[in-house]
Amino acid sequence: MVIVMNEQATEDQVEKVIAALTQKGYDAHRSTGSTRTVIGVVGSSRSPLDPREFEIMPGVHEVVRISEPYKLAGRTFKPEDTVIRIKDVAIGGRDVVLMAGPCAVESEKQLDIIASSVSRYGARILRGGAFKPRTSPYSFQGMGEEGLRHLRTVADRYGLLVITEVMDTSQIELVGRYADILQVGARNMQNFHLLREIGRQSRPVMLKRGMSATIQEWLLSSEYIMAGGNHNVMLCERGIRTFENYTRNTMDLSAIPIIKKLSHLPIIADPSHGTGLRDKVIPMARASVAAGADGIMVEVHHEPEAALSDGPQSIYPEQFAELMAQLRIIAPAIGRTI
Ligand code: PEP
Ligand code: MN
Repeated sequence: MVIVMNEQATEDQVEKVIAALTQKGYDAHRSTGSTRTVIGVVGSSRSPLDPREFEIMPGVHEVVRISEPYKLAGRTFKPEDTVIRIKDVAIGGRDVVLMAGPCAVESEKQLDIIASSVSRYGARILRGGAFKPRTSPYSFQGMGEEGLRHLRTVADRYGLLVITEVMDTSQIELVGRYADILQVGARNMQNFHLLREIGRQSRPVMLKRGMSATIQEWLLSSEYIMAGGNHNVMLCERGIRTFENYTRNTMDLSAIPIIKKLSHLPIIADPSHGTGLRDKVIPMARASVAAGADGIMVEVHHEPEAALSDGPQSIYPEQFAELMAQLRIIAPAIGRTI
């Protein structure tokens, strides 16, 4: 249920509605848009909610039932796009934001070489895994805290933000000390305990789509984070498993306009994991921007042949430059800037 307040509703009237909901044992999530305040009601309680009781409260415009299972992530609760602002970067606004970097942090030198070029070409956010979810326990697992330190140092050197993955609840506090955005990987999209804990902290979160997750399941996972109070969530399409095995995954481009319609959350596209093939990354990144993505995440490596993970899908820094030049032509055609 959402309670839509009148445009002229006073702060006192909003607070009274929230107090009435809390008293009945429900969680009230407030969203104040440019014209009015909307209160999203979630949770379960023994006292049933009677919409009529709220309809007659002063300042209430209407009470709307939400038919979708996700409440806070949907457009009924918040019709306007969510814009996540971190330092001087806004994700979900007019700008298409580029996140680039290696799959895994391998050394400070490696990160410095990659960050210096991607920042020069226009990336705003440095990516790189310090805790890596590898299919085999014998593959490189990441540098851990040392990797996080390199990320912060190198990103600050080039004026970039840091995004990196949190694989487990025990890492949230540590990763939060170094990163600007916490990434939840595809393999953890339905790790509900992790999602709940991440919802209780304040760092913005990028939630990657599980490799076999439907759009509804993905939105429900974002709901877990939002229900904890953290509304700074962006979604990331990174390809799903299908019968097609030419590519590593099948990148679901249609998820981009679908998410835009159903949700106010920013949507990022990851054509690196989406295809697994270096020469397919640029075309799919171009298509993602044309389809309305708010940002692109790409893996970039100066020596992909020697990369400790995901070399075959990592583009060279010069290719990143080429991609940026192309996106600067595509973005304005759909009213976006880069
Ligand atoms: C990653 O971005 O480094 C990663 C492991 O991606 P995914 O969780 O989408 O496989
Ligand atoms: Mn990777």
